[in-house]
Amino acid sequence: MTERSTSGATAIADHGTAAAAVSALLDPTGRVVWAGRTLVQTIGHHHTLVGKQFSELLCEKNTPQAQQIDLVIRQAAQDTAIHATIDSTALGRVRLDIEPMPTNTGAALHVTIEQAGPANEQDPNDESLRYALAAQSANDGLWDWDLVKDVIHYSSRWAKMVGLDPAELTTSPDEWFNRIASSDLHQLHADVAMHTAGATKQLRCEQRIKHVDGEYRWVLCRGKAVFDDQNNAIRLAGSLTDITEMKHAEDKLRQAALHDRLTGLPNRRMLTDHLHRAVQKSADGPKHQSALLFLDFDRFKLINDSMGHDVGDLFLITIAKRLRESIRKTDMAARLGGDEFVIHLDPAESLKEVTDFATALQETLSAPYNLDGRHVTSSASIGIAMCDGAYEKPEDLLRNADTAMYHAKTTGKAKHVVFDQEMHNAAVRRLEMETALTKAVDARQFVLHYQPIINLHSRQIEGFEALARWQHPEHGLLEPEDFIPVAEETGAIVSLGWQLAEMAAEQLKTWRDEYPHLTELTVCMNVARRQLVMPDWSSNLRELIERIQIDPAMFQFEITETTIVSDADVITPVLQQMRDIGVKLGMDDFGTGQSSLSCLDDFPIDVLKIDRAFVHNIDRERSFPAIINAIVGLAHNLGMKVVAEGVEMNEQVALLQALDCDACQGYFFARPMSPEETTQFLNEHPDGVLYITPAEA
Ligand code: C2E
Ligand code: CA
Ligand code: CA
Repeated sequence: MTERSTSGATAIADHGTAAAAVSALLDPTGRVVWAGRTLVQTIGHHHTLVGKQFSELLCEKNTPQAQQIDLVIRQAAQDTAIHATIDSTALGRVRLDIEPMPTNTGAALHVTIEQAGPANEQDPNDESLRYALAAQSANDGLWDWDLVKDVIHYSSRWAKMVGLDPAELTTSPDEWFNRIASSDLHQLHADVAMHTAGATKQLRCEQRIKHVDGEYRWVLCRGKAVFDDQNNAIRLAGSLTDITEMKHAEDKLRQAALHDRLTGLPNRRMLTDHLHRAVQKSADGPKHQSALLFLDFDRFKLINDSMGHDVGDLFLITIAKRLRESIRKTDMAARLGGDEFVIHLDPAESLKEVTDFATALQETLSAPYNLDGRHVTSSASIGIAMCDGAYEKPEDLLRNADTAMYHAKTTGKAKHVVFDQEMHNAAVRRLEMETALTKAVDARQFVLHYQPIINLHSRQIEGFEALARWQHPEHGLLEPEDFIPVAEETGAIVSLGWQLAEMAAEQLKTWRDEYPHLTELTVCMNVARRQLVMPDWSSNLRELIERIQIDPAMFQFEITETTIVSDADVITPVLQQMRDIGVKLGMDDFGTGQSSLSCLDDFPIDVLKIDRAFVHNIDRERSFPAIINAIVGLAHNLGMKVVAEGVEMNEQVALLQALDCDACQGYFFARPMSPEETTQFLNEHPDGVLYITPAEA
């Protein structure tokens, strides 16, 4: 039974209003999940009832009555309580009260079955006792209260329920009332007063009663009063049913529905309910602020993958424990799933208070974790959203804290970041861009523009760098900075990259056919890390080159220094495979990354492209000429060529030439041009030579 409780349905004991009332718990399709004792006694054994269609217990399968019951159950599953009277084969005319369990919306249905019709008519002469006897099941305790003398006769079963020997029991009402939990006693007195005043048809209330073992038992108390001619209640009799098991089951059900099974923390559902109230409170109340912290742990996946799920679970349990210990009574820590935890700080007087809390929490969470003898460290990135009346829905608050967490994560390890609106705008733009990008790749809206690369010795056009542009139907021609980073992040760069590589290869083939005298003419493509790490990258590249029939030596790929160096173990073998295919390799944006000159020969590189930041400042930064000179010297020693990017001025050309740089590209010679413009550019320079000398310009 306890296993079932996690799946959303479990036990409820007998409730009953009048004669032989029985109950059961059904799943939304009408199957019995739990059957009350009386139902079991009436119909059959427990294990044969569970799993059966409820309607078929009462009626023959497929009869109109069975169908009627199924229909009623389906309606109740829509979250409405329903009453129906049905002629059943098994129990005669019965009244069904079906109620969705409030703890678990729609997931479980509680059915009370009550005998209806003539059987319910009572003998007015001894109404209360008949009632007590009728309501009694084998395990119920009976009581009969003489209201005039104020004595209560208890049955022996009643005595046993509280662990007493029947002989020990007096007829004092205190035998009972002194054992009732004080908070429930008040309710019993109120209910008795209501009933004896004629305001209720029966007495019915739940209470905790103390067993002699010191533990409280939950009991359901039912009773009915007898009135004299003046309508004064003179006698009250009824029964006590032990419903402890049901109460525990209910608690478990509630617990399971609202708590995370592993850590016992509130789950997303409970948190959302809780935040709902917080959002409302901050919207109504004057200046009531709370704060939501969204936590994400680094290394969780690593721990899980490398040490196994049991250790991963232990890690999560330990985190939960630390969170619980870090918060106040009015706060809430919840687990949303995976290693995503949140903390709701309520109240949060100021932003400072919240960021101070985050700092302290990060400290707590970065202490080593002892997981079954293994020590691991981890740290949490935290996103913070202040709940300050600006919110209508808890989802928005959660989303914003999540967005801030994402920023915290990208900023570096173990940071906390407070949400601001710009983050949200950026996230929205990013999402829109992601969708738009995928569509645009399919619609082939991307083109390549070409920027010539000029040989500084011969002044010949020795190639073109292919640069992606998005021909956007509404926004016009978009630069790579508007879409390449997103494409890299989302992985769209992979399919986009192949589309562009194919275009570049076709273009190369056309130019080589039409300008055979430009023997050096090369096309350079930029490639991102995401593309290179695809397992089929090299084989696809080989296939492309063979299909389009180009000379691989004229096809060059540029990879940024950062990409190569930061992930050398993975990237170097790929570069080697590309080398084997015969394409040329360039290290892009050289000088912006972390590589030292001494490790340059670790990589199979043909060309170094010096970043334009150096070139721009070549004549302003005193040290730059010397640096460039050193780079050129070393590269030449390693058999590499050096190309300078971003040349905008004649003086830069002259200086680069003097420093023995091999080639350069930049606005000084030409901006990136559309394929048509590029072809025209080639036609304007039939011998491929740009007659621009430093002196002439
Ligand atoms: P990059 O590879 O460093 O490309 C050179 C960038 O410098 C180009 O910017 C080019 O237009 C610009 N540039 C050229 N000469 C000058 C100059 O004299 N002055 C200045 N200020 N800039 C100059 P663009 O076209 O905007 O491309 C930007 C970046 O986008 C590229 O930087 C490259 O990293 C990336 N990118 C472009 N196309 C692709 C592609 O097809 N795939 C990938 N993965 N990345 C691409
Ligand atoms: Ca480049
Ligand atoms: Ca570059």
